[in-house]
Amino acid sequence: MNEIVVVGSGVMGRGIAYVAAASGFPTSVVDVSADALKSAEEAIHQFFRKGVARGKVSEEEATVALRKLAFTQDLEAVARSADLIIEAVPERAKLKQQVFEIVGRSAKASCIFATNTSTMSPTEIASFGGRPERTIAMHFFNPVHKMPLVEIVRGLETSDETVKYIESIARSMGKETVTIKEFPGFVTSRMSALVGNEAFYMLQEGLGTAEEIDKAIKLGLNYPMGPFELADLVGLDARLNNLRYLHEKLGEKYRPAPLLEQYVKAGRLGRKSGKGVYEYTNEGAVSK
Ligand code: NAD
Repeated sequence: MNEIVVVGSGVMGRGIAYVAAASGFPTSVVDVSADALKSAEEAIHQFFRKGVARGKVSEEEATVALRKLAFTQDLEAVARSADLIIEAVPERAKLKQQVFEIVGRSAKASCIFATNTSTMSPTEIASFGGRPERTIAMHFFNPVHKMPLVEIVRGLETSDETVKYIESIARSMGKETVTIKEFPGFVTSRMSALVGNEAFYMLQEGLGTAEEIDKAIKLGLNYPMGPFELADLVGLDARLNNLRYLHEKLGEKYRPAPLLEQYVKAGRLGRKSGKGVYEYTNEGAVSK
């Protein structure tokens, strides 16, 4: 079975690691932060408990998967035996570069590199790891275990074999795929960033409360979540990083709303910090 390493154990990394492990892949989770790793380990155990309770994973599959799941700060060590490395560190080129330089030095020649970037160029990211034909964007969605899509984006030199390999891995994780051409923001983040940013401009302009704007979009446009509910789930910092990148690459229409910048400065990052546009209790319930 292919050995998978997930780099970054935040909102996305832990979800990808859970789905990989639950699909039977021996999976290692890497983070620079020991605290993040500990919290990811607890979260993944919890995902398995819920998965078993809901009948999504059998008790036995969960036990086997957990036995094949490792948590470490030593990327070089786990990269050596990996068949697929999926990077899920924050959306900043410098951080992605650090990761791909390390794995470019330590992974075996056949190993495939994937980035979970929401917006950035897989061609640029491929240049950091030194194996462009084996590098690709594999864009999962949040929450990973619930969202059916993986958006696959090939870089300039990504080989057809790499595309086929990633499509088959995504399918074995129970996901649907779309494989598209490289463009900042791809299909999904380009659209989602625009809608989410517009909602912050509306809130800033006083059109309505966050609840009213969310309700209007959900019931009027038939979106499953309001833009603020989604922003809190994604993380306001992650949303802001996406917008900054898209603003730089695509121009004015992606300029981040000043209110979003303010929220991030205040540490209101969404569900993960307990407060974003809305406030959350420990149980995750919203107290509006
Ligand atoms: P996050 O901030 O929740 O987690 C990132 C983790 O990476 C942190 O635990 C951090 O300690 C760790 N990290 C930082 N530098 C590292 C390094 N050099 N080596 C190892 N670990 C390192 O971020 P996130 O929201 O999970 O986003 C990760 C990536 O996924 C980003 O590229 C983002 O754009 C993309 N993405 C996010 C979402 C979302 O809804 N949050 C959805 C799809 C894609």
